[in-house]
Amino acid sequence: MLPEVGSVWLLRLLRDIQLAQFYQPILEELNVTRPEHFDFVRPEDLDGIGMGRPAQRRLAEALKKHRSGLKSKNWVYKILGGFAPEQKETTPPSDNTQSLPEPEGGLKCLIPDSAVCRGELLGSGCFGVVHRGLWTLPSGQSVPVAVKSLRVGPEGPMGTELGDFLREVSIMMNLEHPHVLRLHGLVLGQPLQMVMELAPLGSLHARLTAPPPTPPLPVALLCLFLRQLAGAMAYLGARGLVHRDLATRNLLLASPRIIKVADFGLVRPLGGARGRYVMGGPRPIPFAWCAPESLRHGLFSSASDVWMFGVTLWEMFSGGEEPWAGVPPYLILQRLEKDRARLPRPPLCSRALYALALRCWAPHPADRPSFSHLEGLLQEAWPPEGRCVRDVTELGALKMESGDPITIIEGSASSHSPDSATWKGQNGRTFKVGSFPASAVTLADLGGLPATRPVHRGSPARGECRQGSIDGDRVKAKLRDPPPARGQRRGEPLQKMKGISKSLESVLSLGPRPTGGGSSPPELRHARAVPQGPPGLPPRPPFASGSSQPSQTPREQPPWPKREPPHSHPMGAPGASKATVPSGGLSPDSEFQRRIMEVELSVHGVTHQECQAALRATGGDVVSAIRNLKVDQLFHLSSRSRADCRRILEHYQWDLSAASRYVLARP
Ligand code: ATP
Repeated sequence: MLPEVGSVWLLRLLRDIQLAQFYQPILEELNVTRPEHFDFVRPEDLDGIGMGRPAQRRLAEALKKHRSGLKSKNWVYKILGGFAPEQKETTPPSDNTQSLPEPEGGLKCLIPDSAVCRGELLGSGCFGVVHRGLWTLPSGQSVPVAVKSLRVGPEGPMGTELGDFLREVSIMMNLEHPHVLRLHGLVLGQPLQMVMELAPLGSLHARLTAPPPTPPLPVALLCLFLRQLAGAMAYLGARGLVHRDLATRNLLLASPRIIKVADFGLVRPLGGARGRYVMGGPRPIPFAWCAPESLRHGLFSSASDVWMFGVTLWEMFSGGEEPWAGVPPYLILQRLEKDRARLPRPPLCSRALYALALRCWAPHPADRPSFSHLEGLLQEAWPPEGRCVRDVTELGALKMESGDPITIIEGSASSHSPDSATWKGQNGRTFKVGSFPASAVTLADLGGLPATRPVHRGSPARGECRQGSIDGDRVKAKLRDPPPARGQRRGEPLQKMKGISKSLESVLSLGPRPTGGGSSPPELRHARAVPQGPPGLPPRPPFASGSSQPSQTPREQPPWPKREPPHSHPMGAPGASKATVPSGGLSPDSEFQRRIMEVELSVHGVTHQECQAALRATGGDVVSAIRNLKVDQLFHLSSRSRADCRRILEHYQWDLSAASRYVLARP
């Protein structure tokens, strides 16, 4: 439980409105120690401690007044305020006590520590561990849940991790969709805990890669998941959110046939009329899933989520393979842009579905379909279902018995005689995939007649069956099946993903950008100057100006390197500075860029623009700029004055993480 120090404000506030008798219950049962904690308190929670509705209205009024005086410098407000859609200041009181949180978004339930019992560990991410749990409602009913606890060090959470955690809460608390993981509420204990809907079957990625005897997922079910995903993403897009981390690892199975989009740690609101989010500085992103504009310019939008949807589709039909396995991170962008390479069509994926994936991977965001359009396109590309009408035992053919359900992956029009047409499909009984005589199957929508016509309804994959372009209509290029990723031969299985890490990659690791004009974003300009990789590894080769030969480049690092600890080098450490200086003479501009980068690397969570401004304010003095920014960061994180923050930082020798832990542990 949080200490009572610092909750004097609460006692004063309650006394002012003659509700002092609720001080202890609010503190101890609801764990409220800061005004912002009331954002998570529902009328039912207050009912639970015996506070009547008129008293609740008085409290809401008093809080409103109290908070209007604090808003400008409160840390939770600063973290949540910019992200949470407008909160209802006073929830209309109702006498109807519900046992579960209200479905209409808004305020979610604040859950007392004692009501949640944690069990087996389900997994861990960048800033939290997830346990299976049981939440006991005031009615006595028990609900199975997943409890994500903020990872804490010996002295409390890191400021940035706390910010990420609260950001995830603030986004999730306003979402309500059948295919979006639901947040039930928050436990304001130590550590902070999110109580979420449990997805008992774990992640889709784990299911896709489960070894035998677990059967593979049927193609028809994968299509159903895609439709659910497109619906959930259309919902997020309509709420002005961009997910930025769409991948099978972040889709959870609530039941065998229901997926839920999870992991909102990277979700951001789309800014302004242009409907895109621009990263403020180098940040970790899952680059193998990312659209070129995200890798090159740090731009994220619904269209970049659509690109990720295409990669997720590819993962699903590849049995959870890793996209771009064997291609070094910095070459992915080059392969996408310069070579116009795309992930190859997985054997389970029909041409119609692959054509849809290629549309998601259009180079120009505007040429990609929207998620709501994708829902319709998926319907068109849906693989038809049929039933086997006779046993098939021919050599080389997919074995089937009369009555077997068959999903048709591909119909072929190559044969002149319908009777000898060969189709490709999946036997729903054995899950085996292969070719078979079309005459052995009747299609559900042919009223029981033998199927003798080609069946895929969508347009053929542009890269495969006809001339076309992945670039909308802009470039008419003759494309064949995109080449397999370097290092793999066609038909050879991609290298299995070995337990994809929770850590994501940074655009910084893309290495130098290709030559050939255009302005590079700040992140990529920095990339040229960052250290060339861990010691012991060969330096990254520069981008080739002609055709790339990635197969000749050694695999230097997996595409999911560990997230760097935020303060891996102390401020002012000589190595840090030297490592970032490019060799050769520096122009004044590049020297300024170098300094910006040095500042950016030394203060976690600051944007490029903030570093620029800080350097300008100090006449280019890197040390002072770093210190000023650290004071700012601490000031935003706590309710202390800037002078206090400076003193604390001096005490901790300008170690921002240690200072953050100190202030967070003593609110
Ligand atoms: P990161 O947050 O670093 O991007 P992540 O998504 O793997 O990585 P978490 O969201 O913390 O991290 O989840 C960790 C693991 O716990 C996941 O891989 C998932 O398998 C499991 N998990 C998370 N939430 C749930 C849930 N609601 N139900 C069941 N399992 C869950």
